[in-house]
Amino acid sequence: MTKVLIVEDEAGLVTLLKYNLEKHGFETVEAMDGKIVMQTVLTEKPDLILMDWMLPNVSGVDLCREIRQHPDVKLTPIIMVTARAEEADKVRGLSYGADDYMTKPFSVPELIARIQALLRRVVVKPKNRVLTAGVLSLDFDKKLVLKSGQPMHMGPTEFRLLAILMEQPGHVFSREELLKLVWGDSVFVEPRTVDVHIRRLRRNLDDDKSELIRTVRSSGYAVKV
Ligand code: CA
Repeated sequence: MTKVLIVEDEAGLVTLLKYNLEKHGFETVEAMDGKIVMQTVLTEKPDLILMDWMLPNVSGVDLCREIRQHPDVKLTPIIMVTARAEEADKVRGLSYGADDYMTKPFSVPELIARIQALLRRVVVKPKNRVLTAGVLSLDFDKKLVLKSGQPMHMGPTEFRLLAILMEQPGHVFSREELLKLVWGDSVFVEPRTVDVHIRRLRRNLDDDKSELIRTVRSSGYAVKV
């Protein structure tokens, strides 16, 4: 059973989310206080986290970053939930390691669809267990990316994006191809999301000059051989 951790301090919203997620076959656990989130993540090992942006004493963004840095749970998919709608915040939310983002108030069917889409895209079914391209290697079993032998940290969406690029080193993937391969047929993803995650991936790889992940003008992206 898929376990969803609900990080939310509004009791009414927790009740609503639990009821609806359980109705759709998910198991739920909750953390209503930011201080216990990390501990709950480590003991419960959820398959996905719904993270409220505004929590007393601690921000969802900081928790997100903390989760991304912990080797045992760093690839847990995270959906950030916030009351702020500004576009800048959306990008900022993604840059801190969330995989998706929803604005309150949201509809339950949309939330369920986004959860299912996110879970689909983080389940990677590789042909090879270890991929290499240039100075990069990616190990599916260890969930590890090495650059010249050094481990690099990244979230599940960047891991999957890199895995797809590394399945065919040198091949230029269009944004549309990457959207389909990484995000599936989710109707909620905007094309520029690909660019946001490519930027994150480059930052994760310390690839300031786009030497590892190439932009091919008007075509798309490729990993350097
Ligand atoms: Ca809140």
